[in-house]
Order: sequence, then structure tokens, then C-alpha cells
Amino acid sequence: MADEDGGLIDFYPYRNRFPTYHRLQPEGRDRQSILDELATMAAEEDRIADRGRVSGSIYHGGRDHYAFLTEAFRLFAHANVLQRDMYPSATKLEAEIVAMTAAMLHGDDKVCGVVTFGGTESLIDPMLAYRDRGRIEKGITEPEVIVPVTAHVALDKAAHLLGIKLLKAPLAEDWRVDVEWVRRHVTPNTVAIVGSAPNYAHGVIDPIEQLADIASERGIGLHVDGCLGGFILPWGERLGHPVPRFDFRVPGVTSLSADTHKYGYALKGTSVLLYRDAALRKYQYFTNPDWPGGIYFSPGLSGSRSGGLVAATWAAMVSLGEGSYVEIARDIFRTAAAIRDGVASMPELEVIGDPTFLVAFRSPELNIYHVNDRLIEKGWRLNALQLPPALHFCVTRPNTAPGVAEAFVADLHKAVEYAKHPAREEPKSGALYGLGGTPEGNDVLNTLFTAALDAMYEVAPKDGRG
Ligand SMILES: *Cc1c(COP(=O)(O)O)cnc(C)c1O
Repeated sequence: MADEDGGLIDFYPYRNRFPTYHRLQPEGRDRQSILDELATMAAEEDRIADRGRVSGSIYHGGRDHYAFLTEAFRLFAHANVLQRDMYPSATKLEAEIVAMTAAMLHGDDKVCGVVTFGGTESLIDPMLAYRDRGRIEKGITEPEVIVPVTAHVALDKAAHLLGIKLLKAPLAEDWRVDVEWVRRHVTPNTVAIVGSAPNYAHGVIDPIEQLADIASERGIGLHVDGCLGGFILPWGERLGHPVPRFDFRVPGVTSLSADTHKYGYALKGTSVLLYRDAALRKYQYFTNPDWPGGIYFSPGLSGSRSGGLVAATWAAMVSLGEGSYVEIARDIFRTAAAIRDGVASMPELEVIGDPTFLVAFRSPELNIYHVNDRLIEKGWRLNALQLPPALHFCVTRPNTAPGVAEAFVADLHKAVEYAKHPAREEPKSGALYGLGGTPEGNDVLNTLFTAALDAMYEVAPKDGRG
């Protein structure tokens, strides 16, 4: 697994600085020294984000805002939202999070939803609902779902877990999904179609209205993955930016995910999943009345969850209100436009599709990973893409500080010049990308990733081994 320097990640940078625990100590440790140690790590790790040169990841970035959310979190950190008898606040807060999100996305009073642990759950749960609806209402035993090739990889995870066959639709010239391909590949086994608003790779919004027409005609579901865009596109539209319709105003849209832990500016670990109506939502519920441990029911994948995250999410939405969401979105759209214009002004680069707040670009003539190498040296942390090789800058609030877009465009000019005469043949930041997309390369990568995941659960090796 490559880090942003293109080297292998050092998973254990603290191994010689702090004590390493291989087992519980006979006696506990002094609280203050624990907090000091954690504060040291946090302060160092936050420095990367605080420079405002990171794509995505840190969506709000305001110290005050996070301190406020943490205060809300603290009050319910220990509470289990499954236990509604003890914590009726969870019912109020979650229902209101869902209602506020549904209203933002133009749902009528039939639109309903759930709060999940993140975008991944907000994509797995609806796939379960469509699969089971297909089985129960239509007797479909070999369910298929059609997704754009650019759809989020959590849908691959969903298909893997749920035994769904995933069909990957190619893109049209404009980088949006090829609608005619989708139309031709709907079969009697198709339970749902997915479109992104926008997708993670390129920030491109699929033609949701056309996908919805297909879904309506065939009586199947259309899930809109608004995990990234759900909490910012509505404000972009209000500000007058051209945002094609993607929400519940489009009749064929049957479910929609929007991540509160991205542009909802909440803490990591929550997302909202909305359904057109409760008749569809019920297919994701899990109930078991015969468990010796008691009668059990839960809305989706998760079991016990912290009330703290729910409280913090609710607090973020209520404290910001539409006014702040719009204001932040104005800055983000303005910054993204400046970056897009800067990229477009360089003949060596090509902007991918028609971006809104996330700008992806590639180069028909240069190795874009060489460009990235130089940007990394300048402290920028863009996301490297593959198939085809490209980079993206997902603009967030920290990037809207004065001068950031201008500094980025200036550094991008220099990086493009560097890429014409790179210091090394193989770009550092592209080391692994050459391997993807072929069966042999994928084998190598899968082995590497398995080793990386194993390493993530190793206690730091003793010095000398690492
Ligand atoms: C972030 C994201 C998701 C979900 O990812 P999580 O890491 O589970 O929150 C899904 N779709 C898109 C387009 C995303 O950007």
C-alpha cells in the first residue's frame, strides 16, 4: 500500500517513541500521561490537514466546530442507540437527522430513512433491500444490479457480501454512465440500477433522470449514491450552479444515500440512507423474535452504536442550518471553479467531465503521476486515480482559505513542467498503479493488500524488525 510519498506506508512510526503494549498491564496507567501521549499523536497528525492542501478527507476543518461536536458527542458517548427504552433521545435525534436530510433532498412526507455508520453501510443496506424485495415480490433468486464502472467500490463489497451479480456499465464520451448500455442490460433478474451524484473518482454526476426512466419502466429500484454530493449539491443548486436533478424530485429515484460525515460536517461514522417509502425500507430490517437472548430487531447492518455520533451529527446540522451550509458551499464551488479554470488553462492537462466541487484531470501526453510527485513535494495531497491514470482535488472547506487555489494552480504549473523532464523514470506516486487492471498485476496487488491489512493489526514490531 503506497502512502502519499509513493513509498510503502510506515504503519508504526511511534514504535520507538511511546511504550508498545502487547498485553494488559497489571496496573493501569496515569490518565494524564495517556492523554498527553494521544495529544502528541493527534497534533502531529492534524498538521497535514491544517495546511489546507488536502483533497477530501477533512470536510469542515474548523477547530471550534469540532470542539462543539465533541462536546455533543461526550454527552452520549457511552449510550447505545439500540436501547431506546434507556435512550429515547436517539429516537428524536435520528428521526430528525433523517427528516432534515429528506427535506433537503426534496423528499415528500412518504420519504423515510435510517442513520447508518457510514457511506458503506448506506450502500450495502439498500442493496439488501432490493435483493430481498426482488426475491419476495418477484421470486428473483439470482439478483443483478447495474452500476456505472465509476460507482463507489462499496457496491462491490455489497455485491460480494450479498451474493448479487454486479454489472459494470461503461461510460459515454462525457464520462457519465452510458445510459443505452444500462437499458440494454436490464434483465428479468435486475433488481436495481445505481447512479452517482457525483462519483468519487471524477466528481461527475450520472444522468439520473434517464436512469430513473429506465428504472420506472422496468419496475426496479434506482439508488442514487449521493454519499459525497448529497450534502453539498443542493446548496450549489441554490447558488445558481448548474446541478442536474438527482434527488427525490426525480420520480424513479427510489433510494438515496448522503454522508453526514462528509459535507454534512459531522464526525466520522454517520451517514443517512433515504427511501422513497417505508414499504421498501422494511426489506433492510432484521428481526428475530426467537433468540434466547431476547426479542431482537435492528434496522440494518450495525448492532450497538454510540449515541455520541448521533448527537454530534444532529448538533452539526442544527447548529449550521441552511445559512452556513450555503455559505460554505459558496466558497467551495468558487474554489473548485478556480482550480478547474487553472487546470483547463494548461494545454498538457485535460479536465475530466463537467465538474462541480471535485475536479479530476489527466494528461494525454504526460505521466500524471510525475505531476503528482512534484505536487506532493509541495505539500499537496491529491487523490491518485487509475483506469485511466488521473488525479482529483475534492475541494473542502479548508481549501477555501484565501490564496489556496492560486497557490495550487501555481504549483500545478511547476509540476507539469517537472513532468516533462522528470528526475526518475518511474514516478514515485504511481508505483502500484501500473499493476492494476491485468490478472497477473491484480494477483500481486491482492497479495500486497492482504499483507498490508495484516500489518495494520500487528502491534509495532520490536525495533530493528520494522
Ligand atoms: C465516501 C463515498 C462513499 C462511502 O464511503 P464511506 O467511506 O463508507 O463513507 C460512497 N460513495 C461515494 C461517491 C463516496 O464519495
